[in-house]
Amino acid sequence: MISLSKDLMERIRSHGRETYPEECVGALLGRKGEPAHVVSVERIDNIRTAERARRYEISPQDYLRVEGLAAEKSLALLGFYHSHPDHPAAPSAYDREHAFPFFHYLVCAVAGGRPGDVTAWTLSEDTGEFEREPILEEEA
Ligand SMILES: [Zn+2]
Repeated sequence: MISLSKDLMERIRSHGRETYPEECVGALLGRKGEPAHVVSVERIDNIRTAERARRYEISPQDYLRVEGLAAEKSLALLGFYHSHPDHPAAPSAYDREHAFPFFHYLVCAVAGGRPGDVTAWTLSEDTGEFEREPILEEEA
């Protein structure tokens, strides 16, 4: 399970709206546990030059940057969010191939420029498949 505030959820949705019809991507910083608790989100540039509507890629520099940011705030890098322009909020085969078992992944559907469902996923180390996890949305 992963928890985050309505405000952070709104920031993820807004990011998806702004980059539509291309995918947005960002980091989830917070505290590990059950539930994992997202404390802040950090936008990341999608460095893909092709298929930006269906793919995202994070540069090694940005990866190090958000890891450093987490350390500065005494938080952990919990995972990443990204949007699916005109596709359902479920991870793609590409997402699965590029995922790590220790991270949480949020996917935000953006249909026709309007952000919709956000879902959360973790990659099972046993099966190599994504498993959906509940999102606990907190007030404030
Ligand atoms: Zn995806």
